[in-house]
Parts: sequence; C-alpha cells; structure tokens
Amino acid sequence: MENQLAKIFTFIDEHKEDMVQDLRTFADLEGHFEEKDNVLKARTWLQQQLEKEGFACRFREVADDRCGIMIAELGMDRPGKPIIFSGHCDTVHYTGSFGGENPTVIKDGKFFGPGVLDMKGGLIIALYVAKALNFIQYKEHPIKLIVVGEEESDHVGNDGNKILTAESKGALCCFNMETGQMNNSLCTQKKSQFTYYLSVDGVGGHAGNDFLKGRNAINEAVYKIQKIIELTDLSVGTTVTTAVIKGGGHTSGIADHCEVVFDVRVTNENEAKRIMDSMYEITDETFIEGTKSKLTYYRAKLLPLQETKEAIRLLDFVNTVAKDNGFDEFGKVHLGGASDAGNMAAAGIPVLDNCGIIGQYAHNKKEYGIINSLYSRAKIFAGTVLKIKEL
Ligand SMILES: [Zn+2]
Repeated sequence: MENQLAKIFTFIDEHKEDMVQDLRTFADLEGHFEEKDNVLKARTWLQQQLEKEGFACRFREVADDRCGIMIAELGMDRPGKPIIFSGHCDTVHYTGSFGGENPTVIKDGKFFGPGVLDMKGGLIIALYVAKALNFIQYKEHPIKLIVVGEEESDHVGNDGNKILTAESKGALCCFNMETGQMNNSLCTQKKSQFTYYLSVDGVGGHAGNDFLKGRNAINEAVYKIQKIIELTDLSVGTTVTTAVIKGGGHTSGIADHCEVVFDVRVTNENEAKRIMDSMYEITDETFIEGTKSKLTYYRAKLLPLQETKEAIRLLDFVNTVAKDNGFDEFGKVHLGGASDAGNMAAAGIPVLDNCGIIGQYAHNKKEYGIINSLYSRAKIFAGTVLKIKEL
C-alpha cells in the first residue's frame, strides 16, 4: 500500500506541468452559465480527458437553455460503493469579460482567470486523482465524477438539484471540489439562500407642493427594511441583509415606487419558514397609509449542507492521510455560501466541500488559485481513495 501511495505521489510530481496546462486549457474555455454552447465546449473537453482514462460518460439534461449534468463513471463493476468527486464547469463570468481570448495568466505561483478557482481547478484535481489511481491500476471502488453545467444559476427553474441527489444515492462519500479556502479548511456545513424582492408603490408628486398628498414609497420601504433586517439571528446562523435598493426619480419629487432586494441565508428549514412568514407579515403591514407592497422570492436549489458525524469521520480520515504523508491537516469551516454539496448530502452520504484548488476572490475578476495546492490536494485525495477501506 505504501509503495502504491509513493507511486501516486511520483505520478503527480511528474505531471505538474500537465496539470497546469490542463487547467489553462479548461479555464480558457470560458462559459457563463447562460452561455450554454460555451459551457458545453468546456464540458466536452473534460469528457474527452475522462474518456481517455476509461470513464463512460452519460448526460442528464436540466433545461433547453442550460448545459446539463455529465455523469462520468469508471469501474462501475468494481465491488465497493462509488466514490464521488463533484463540481461545476460553468462560471459567473461572461465570455470575453477578462478582455479577449485565452485570458488565463500565471504569476508568482498563482493562476488567474475565469473559473480557475470557482471551480475548474477542483475538477482538474479530480481528473488527476483518477489518472493517478489508474496509473497504479486501482480497482477497489468505482470512481464517479458529477459535473454540473449551471451551478451558478442555483438550478433555479430546473430540477438539477434532484438529479444530483439521485445520482449520489448509494455512494460511499462525496468530495465536492469547490473553491479551496485560504486557511486550508474543508467545509462541513453550508447555508441555503433565498432572494426576496420587495416592491412598494406609493403616490408620487412634488416634494414641496404635494408633501401632504404624496405617499412616499421609499419611506415606506425604509420602515420595512428596518424590521426585516432585524430578522437576522446569528445564534442560529440566519442572516438577512439588504442587497439592492432602487427607487424615486426626480431629486425634488416624492418617490412613487421603490424596489428592495434582500439576501437571506439559513442553516435549517425552521429558520427558512420563520423568515418567510415574517417577511410576508412585514410586507402586509402598512406604515404609510396609501402605499401598497408586494413580496416575491426565489430559493436557490442548493440545499443546506448539514454537518453529520459521518462527514466529521470522513474529514478526520482525510486528515490522517494528509498528516501521515507530511501535509498540513485540514481545518473545518462552516460557510455562508451555498453549493451543490447539500444536494449530494441529501442522498444520505457524507460530503466534504471546498476540496478544490486553494485561492481567493471567487465571483470577482481578481479570482485566482494557488498552483501548489493542485498538487498537494491531488495527492491527498488520491491517497484517501487508496486507503478508504480504513475509514
Ligand atoms: Zn461560484
């Protein structure tokens, strides 16, 4: 076994340049989740790499205008339960937003470019885990890659989340290769996200002449905002924040319309309900007679990831593999962001999230990944698969 582990490490060391080149190719295939054809190109490239390694790929469509889910399976006839590596190949950046073709740049050990961190780097790690395991002719557990093409749209308007849960049933565990944290922590708990849209209509007019007749929609919204943000309860991890305000028109007018967007994050369904009931109650309460308010919302179809003792056991095991081989142990973190990890965990399997390339500034053009973490994490996760029967 130790001999096989050494071979895995040597394999990764000998393929460092290939990993970097592959991440460059993959990230240069830009694709915002709305750009179906572009995301498909990136997914097809990854499909080709996986097929070269013997993976059989099949596809689960989610919507006509979105790139669907690729399920890549290797060794499904192996005796053990499948081990899942998951991730998404869409990004939040539109093609060309980094200023032209082939936008990735390497500088000072960092990889800059669209999606290098969120989260093509993580998928490259998964690819090389598979390659390294093939190199030592590993045959104990099936390896399953689940590659999503519209994670950044939160699966709103489709049932991609349900497909992910169904495809995860019966697996041994899942490593979601999302953005690695700068403090080297893996994530065992994530929140579920709601976007609420409050719309207020009032009666407009001249700020001087119509002061008493007017019904100021912005003022009404302000009363409501004050009550809504007080719904935050950090003791249970619930956050409510005002994200966008639009309203008014003329600088000397009474605002007849105001729109407010709130971002809400919760860790469980009780809180989801408490917030929703309260949001509607506050919307229905009128502070300025003559104004009318309306509330709509959408919920990201990214279920909250709940920490389980099985996930902690998996984390402890990954840490044993890391420590025994001279790598830093991972910390543990609970994050406010949402991801597909909760959709996998809904299948009743342990999931660790944020297993991908370490970096910063996801969802921003400053996004970068630290190249060395590609190698260390590929070694640790390939080693984890190799030794998983000790879990
Ligand atoms: Zn993202």
